[in-house]
Amino acid sequence: MDGSVWWLIPVVLIGGGRLSEVGRRALVTRHQRKLELRKADEQKQLAVDAANRPPEPVCGCTHHLAKHDRTGKCHETVEAPIAWDAERKPLRYESRPCNCQQYIGPEPLGMVFAQEITDRP
Ligand SMILES: [Zn+2]
Ligand SMILES: [Zn+2]
Repeated sequence: MDGSVWWLIPVVLIGGGRLSEVGRRALVTRHQRKLELRKADEQKQLAVDAANRPPEPVCGCTHHLAKHDRTGKCHETVEAPIAWDAERKPLRYESRPCNCQQYIGPEPLGMVFAQEITDRP
């Protein structure tokens, strides 16, 4: 027995352990990179979707196109202050019809002001 191979055992143990550690770290890094790539892809897709989507048909009165009738009058109600305190802060509100007379905003593509749908008595 000259014992010349004994030194190999710690080297293999330490070396092997370090290798597996390095391998594991590489795997984790690759996994993270994949996740980041996927996230970037999703964000790109979201941006593309947003660019392709027609603008929200919201009127200047902040109400949706659907709240306006054929003549363009808005039928949404708004909270209007009816009482103020000494500092002119509104104390009480009252529901009033929005006084918007005409829808002003983006027209949704491929949709003429839907007469059949919004036909009211
Ligand atoms: Zn309006
Ligand atoms: Zn309105």
